[in-house]
Amino acid sequence: MGERRMAEIHELSEILANQIAAGEVIERPGSVVKELVENALDAHATQIDVLVEEAGVKSIRVIDNGDGIPGNQVARAFLRHATSKINSRQDLFRVQSLGFRGEALPSIASVADVVLQTATADAEQGAKIHYQGGKIIEETGTNARQGTDITVSDLFFNTPARLKYLKSQATELSQIVDVINRLAMSYPNVAFHLVHNGKELLQTAGNGNLQQVIASVYGVQQARKMLSVSAHDNDFEINGFISLPELTRANRSYISILINGRFVKNYNLSKAIVKGYGSKLMVGRFPIAILQIKMDPLLVDVNVHPQKHEVRLSKETQLMSLIEEMVVQRFVNENLIPNAYENY
Ligand code: ADP
Ligand code: MG
Repeated sequence: MGERRMAEIHELSEILANQIAAGEVIERPGSVVKELVENALDAHATQIDVLVEEAGVKSIRVIDNGDGIPGNQVARAFLRHATSKINSRQDLFRVQSLGFRGEALPSIASVADVVLQTATADAEQGAKIHYQGGKIIEETGTNARQGTDITVSDLFFNTPARLKYLKSQATELSQIVDVINRLAMSYPNVAFHLVHNGKELLQTAGNGNLQQVIASVYGVQQARKMLSVSAHDNDFEINGFISLPELTRANRSYISILINGRFVKNYNLSKAIVKGYGSKLMVGRFPIAILQIKMDPLLVDVNVHPQKHEVRLSKETQLMSLIEEMVVQRFVNENLIPNAYENY
């Protein structure tokens, strides 16, 4: 028998519980950006500015023109498992919003310095709240325009192991860019603006034109080599763009799949795209693609992973066939004469 006795069972403090959750939800600056921008999108923002300093380690500021948070609920937004997005078990099975776990704000606030300013359309004045390492520092009224403006600085200042685990600034920045690129392509109706150390990295118009967003993300030359695709059956509706076989990449990560507006990682669906190209692709090469797939939320379970990248799909095989057939058909119709690229 060992000498050490176990301590008594006790509940973790709120701050400690939040820091543990942060370990899952907030891995790196890119995850903070993702969570904050998703909150802005859930709040129906049409304009989202993301201002980043030193790859997000120094600060990340996200400004949106969305619904804002009512002044009397601002502190509640920072409570663990507090959300305005779902109520019941039923809601969980038909989640429409990007968030629903109520973990992002408390997690971020437990491992950084956070200042949030917000106002709703009908509020006489806005609210401002300041958290540091999970502790509330100040809550006041403020003159804010409608929307939310949140600044996260000194990320992981109180969790040195996390800080040490971060990669080079170039790598962390590329993750942030990746997050914004994907969200911009997912929401062509939203104007995105990404600035790093004062330098503009992405700007989209928010006019709903996906091909224009693709041009902003991948370049105009590339966008000209993308073909529009669409398909539907009783359960699924697909719209998007796939690259000509001549425009390829060395890995699958340029295949973006969105299910009901949520970017997901699904190997089987990207495999279906690749399969549709058949022998048109050289071995070891993969297309660029972006597919928006709409389906009844009941067919998709997003509650698989804290970061909600993975989803479980009912009728996945049916969807795979629909995708593969769509790609096959697109190339049957496309006679591959250069300049057959419509609408660009
Ligand atoms: P979740 O997004 O899972 O609900 P969060 O911790 O990310 O959890 O946010 C908590 C709550 O704070 C949200 O449910 C929402 O009501 C509010 N909120 C957060 N960010 C914004 C924002 N940018 N605009 C409006 N409301 C927001
Ligand atoms: Mg959220």
